[in-house]
Amino acid sequence: MKMNTLNITKKIMNQYHIRANKRFGQNFLIDDNILKNIIEISNIGKNDLVIEIGPGLGNLSEYIINNSKFSILIEIDKNMEKILNDRLGKYDNYLLLNEDVLKINIDELIKKVELKNNTKYEQIKVVANLPYYITTPIIFQLLQESERIDEIIVMVQKEVAERMIAKPKTKAYGILTIMVDYLSDADIKFIVPNSSFIPAPDVTSAVIKLIKNKKYQVDNEEVFFKLIHSAFAQRRKKLSNSLESTHFMGFNKSQIENILLKNNISLNVRAEELTIQDYINIVNGL
Ligand code: SAM
Repeated sequence: MKMNTLNITKKIMNQYHIRANKRFGQNFLIDDNILKNIIEISNIGKNDLVIEIGPGLGNLSEYIINNSKFSILIEIDKNMEKILNDRLGKYDNYLLLNEDVLKINIDELIKKVELKNNTKYEQIKVVANLPYYITTPIIFQLLQESERIDEIIVMVQKEVAERMIAKPKTKAYGILTIMVDYLSDADIKFIVPNSSFIPAPDVTSAVIKLIKNKKYQVDNEEVFFKLIHSAFAQRRKKLSNSLESTHFMGFNKSQIENILLKNNISLNVRAEELTIQDYINIVNGL
């Protein structure tokens, strides 16, 4: 009888004397239905390249490798190297890197792999159960810094998934929401209870799919990013005060007020009350 992922996980942890390392955000996914659902919604094509961040013991990796043309597994924990190669050694279509994902230039890595394998992949996707302590920097890295990634399908803390698709005038709405909306189409696919992991995290999780799509016309991206960061730097303050105290573009108070009034924005408004289009109008009108 084929062992399920729960038993495989227990067996590997015993055999290699592994304990989940909290410092690296290790919570191993042990629910076969969830693993299959992640693969199903990832819709991996036979000629796709998939990057997995944090393969851990390889529970998701095996599914990914079986469904893709080639996979790159990036794992910071050196202890996982032997486990992963023992488990996955029968496959020849993966590359395991023992590195911190945040220190990697993803597009350069993709280029190297394409050259080495002499293959141009159809789509490039990230499929991962992310380490929660660095979810936001990873999402920014994949969305903002990489031009090659087409889709991102990741397990994150439910609250973070909700922040990604939040509406204005809510507490969850902020820089992450605006960046995700600016650079992708985002959709929460399903919620995952903490009992689906070993050890069980304190929080509920969600799988979210981000399809890269730049649908807004922004004249100066750099200024747009600066504006968003300045606006939300002090989100409880009035927007005009937040922009002034963060020295947005070096403008003084009356210049900032003029800009807001020119865009029909009340001087009493707070950052979370404006839509992404309001922010874009400010930038494009400068
Ligand atoms: N994919 C496995 C699973 O679903 O069972 C493990 C997921 S666990 C939530 C997150 C994984 O990310 C861990 O294996 C952890 O060691 C790894 N990790 C943590 N920080 C990392 C980093 N900066 N770069 C690469 N991997 C990291």
